[in-house]
Amino acid sequence: MIDTHAHLDHVEHLPDVLAAAAQAGVSAIIAVGEDLESNQKNLKICQSAPRPRVYLGFGFHPDRAHRQDLEPCLEFIKAHAKEAVAIGEIGLDFWYPWVKIDPALQEKQKAVFRRMLEAAKEWGLPAIIHSRGAWQESLDIARETGTRKAVFHWYSGPLDVLEAILAQGYYVSCSPSLSYSKPSQAVVRATPLDRLLIETDTPVFYRNSDGGGGFAASPKDVRITLECVCRLKELPQQAAAESLDQNACRCFALK
Ligand SMILES: [Zn+2]
Repeated sequence: MIDTHAHLDHVEHLPDVLAAAAQAGVSAIIAVGEDLESNQKNLKICQSAPRPRVYLGFGFHPDRAHRQDLEPCLEFIKAHAKEAVAIGEIGLDFWYPWVKIDPALQEKQKAVFRRMLEAAKEWGLPAIIHSRGAWQESLDIARETGTRKAVFHWYSGPLDVLEAILAQGYYVSCSPSLSYSKPSQAVVRATPLDRLLIETDTPVFYRNSDGGGGFAASPKDVRITLECVCRLKELPQQAAAESLDQNACRCFALK
C-alpha cells in the first residue's frame, strides 16, 4: 500500500509512526508540503532514508496564499525540484468562511495556484490539488494552465465535476473518511479503479464509522481506506491493493 498524501511534518514520534506503517504493509508514503517550513521539514525526513520509503510533494497550501509570501517557498522548491515526485499540496479552498465571502482572497488563491501549476508543468511534475468548495474553479484552472498530470486529493465534490476531472485524465484520491462520508462513497463508486489513489491526509482527525469517537490518522490507516474501497467496489483486497499501488506508481512515476 502507498499512502499518497500525508503531512509527515506534523507527526509526533515519527520513527514509531513509520515503524507501525511498515508493519501494517505500507511500502511508501508521499509527504506533502504546505509552505516553506513544511517543505524543508519533509526534505529532512526524506533525507534520513526512512522505511517505508518517503517521496516528496513540495507545495504551498491555499490557506497560506494570503498569509505568506510565495516567493521564498518557490525559490526553495526550484532548488530542490529534482528531489520531488509532485507539486502539492496546492489548490483552492473556498470553504473557509472568510474566503467564501471575500472575492479578493479567492483571486489571491487563484493567482498562487496558477503559478504553482505553471511551475509543476515546467518541472514535468504531477500536481496534488486541494479543491474543497472550489471544485469547478480548480478544474478550470488546471485545464487553462495545460496541466497534464494531477490528482484531486480527497475529492468529495459534485459528480458532474468528477466526470470532467476523469475526462481530463486526472486521478482522484480518497481518505479514511470513506467509512462514513456519503459524498466520498459516491465519488469512489463513480471512479474507475485505474484512476483512484488511496491516502490518509495524516494527521487529520476522522470519526469512527460507528459514530463513536475518532482518531488522528497516521499512514498505517491507509489500510482503512483500502478496505473501504474494496467494500464499495466489491473487490478482493490483494488485487485492489496491487492495482492502487500501480496507479500511484504511474501517477507519480515512482520507481
Ligand atoms: Zn493535505
